[in-house]
Amino acid sequence: MFHGDSSDIASAVSAVGMSNDGSSLDAEDVGPEARGAGRQPTLTGCPWHDVNEMLQAAGLRPTRQRMALGWLLFGKGARHLTAEMLYEEATLAKVPVSLATVYNTLNQLTDAGLLRQVSVDGTKTYFDTNVSAHHHFYLENNHELVDIPDPHLMLQKMPEIPDGYEIARVDMVVRLRKKR
Ligand SMILES: [Zn+2]
Repeated sequence: MFHGDSSDIASAVSAVGMSNDGSSLDAEDVGPEARGAGRQPTLTGCPWHDVNEMLQAAGLRPTRQRMALGWLLFGKGARHLTAEMLYEEATLAKVPVSLATVYNTLNQLTDAGLLRQVSVDGTKTYFDTNVSAHHHFYLENNHELVDIPDPHLMLQKMPEIPDGYEIARVDMVVRLRKKR
């Protein structure tokens, strides 16, 4: 996935160096990777612009595939999607990607902090576009993940944790099924 990145940076940098049209070389003229990760994206409500901003703020180059998948993921509000669900949406939207690329992209977005992984069974991993602290209902009948609105929901007693560790996050999935 990352092949060619270093040469792309090089060409972007030399392109900036050679631009001689009189425009000032302010921060916006520097390549996305050079601008550094971790800054706050400036969101405007335009999905294309916002996805581009989110990728760049996370230090990810806005490739065509990342832009297209990001558009599908983030353009519709908070969502919970498996890689297979996103792959199906991409196929329907005529985005030419493989399932492997969808997996890679979802993992990169997760590593960059733009998505949160929620595992339901050992086999099913959902990617959540809402990365704030919250828990989930899992509707077993239709395999759907739904946010629990109460962010302060806590376990009654936290378990003892080994020395040298701290709790990174507590994921609670409350499994629901239809009453018979
Ligand atoms: Zn959620």
